[in-house]
Amino acid sequence: SGRWSQAMAILKEFEEKCGTPLSKLRQVADAMTVEMHAGLASEGGSKLKMIISYVDNLPTGDEKGLFYALDLGGTNFRVLRVQLGGRDNHVVKQEFDEVSIPPNLMIGTSDGLFDFIAEALKKFVDTEGEDFHLPPDRQRELGFTFSFPVKQTSIASGALIKWTKGFSIEEAVGQDVVAELTKAIERVGLDMRVAALVNDTIGTLAGGRYSNPDVIAAVILGTGTNAAYVERAHAIPKWHGLLPKSGDMIFEKMISGMYLGEILRVVLCKMAEEAAFFGDTVPPKLKVPFILRTPHMSAIHHDTTSDLRVVGSKLKDVLEISNTSLKTRKVVVELCDIISFRGARLAAAGILGILKKLGRDTLREGEKQRSVIALDGGLYEHYTKFRNAMEGTLKELLGEASGTIVIEHSNDGSGIGAALLAASHSQYL
Ligand code: ADP
Ligand code: MG
Repeated sequence: SGRWSQAMAILKEFEEKCGTPLSKLRQVADAMTVEMHAGLASEGGSKLKMIISYVDNLPTGDEKGLFYALDLGGTNFRVLRVQLGGRDNHVVKQEFDEVSIPPNLMIGTSDGLFDFIAEALKKFVDTEGEDFHLPPDRQRELGFTFSFPVKQTSIASGALIKWTKGFSIEEAVGQDVVAELTKAIERVGLDMRVAALVNDTIGTLAGGRYSNPDVIAAVILGTGTNAAYVERAHAIPKWHGLLPKSGDMIFEKMISGMYLGEILRVVLCKMAEEAAFFGDTVPPKLKVPFILRTPHMSAIHHDTTSDLRVVGSKLKDVLEISNTSLKTRKVVVELCDIISFRGARLAAAGILGILKKLGRDTLREGEKQRSVIALDGGLYEHYTKFRNAMEGTLKELLGEASGTIVIEHSNDGSGIGAALLAASHSQYL
């Protein structure tokens, strides 16, 4: 019918706009490298923020003792403790707990949010068992993973630049997040010192390096996209101080978990409005921003049943669209393919950009260098088709050099990494 061909025309146009031929990906990677240079040259020199981490030493393996970590970065936060055994024993024991943040606290007051976190931390410390050892007269120490843009001023202080990922607590912007956390820790009566403030990418880089010395960069594909890599201090013109060697940069082209499901909703809504794709009326739920989450999209995309039952039930449960035909469901899956393929390929181009910046994207005569990139984040971890497309595209882009590049899933490297950085910045060293 006319409607169907109209819908197919929208699909086709969308597919063309999402096209990512290798030539385009190479342009993106080159542009990334250029912007990374610009971002290192001067503050505000690029839209790509190259934030200096103040971590000038990655873990060596010698770290010893009991350390805590707290990871605040999205809808959940995690608390973790590790007993580090030094050179021969590494992580002797670790435990963690995950707590979801009540949505009202994400848009409430600074004290409200930090008190909630400190309270959960205190409860977790209270469950510390015999396997963990704190030498007498010592204060517990914590690595704080805070995955929002921060202008760091030292290893354990930094001002919040802005909230992202659905958080909005205006009074906290510009404040030192370590000072805020420390005050809350004192308010709940816990004796603990924040020894290191890190972004999740830096945590993942540190955790990755601890388990594999060839790790040179970390990439997070979660609610947002971000990466960190080790830069030589003399390659950072804007750095006028003495020590730091590590850089951090941000790369977001609506390719990550926060956006993929939403893109699918927007396209389906357009098809409903302009081509009556779901019948004469536009299903009202389809007009609600962010109602279709990336995990829903992932479930739709991975449906292996012959009648696409999962697609049908997701459309019904999430969008209240019932009785969809197989033909319609197939189009929805095709849209998932287009959206995730674009995102995954752009993510691969971003990684190529970092490798280019480091001069590790080509084989070099007589050199046997291996580069490992630590990957983490819910999108990478759970969206198999995204992950496979990303890894496949990176191989394609690297060609013969792909044998020297390894992608490693760093499962909760960021938590362990923050604890390790607390250890290497302990007041007792
Ligand atoms: P962050 O710390 O940035 O909040 P996480 O690494 O915890 O992110 O990942 C959470 C994100 O991962 C979610 O926002 C969601 O977009 C994505 N995600 C989680 N589960 C799935 C899934 N099954 N399929 C696809 N994406 C998922
Ligand atoms: Mg995270």
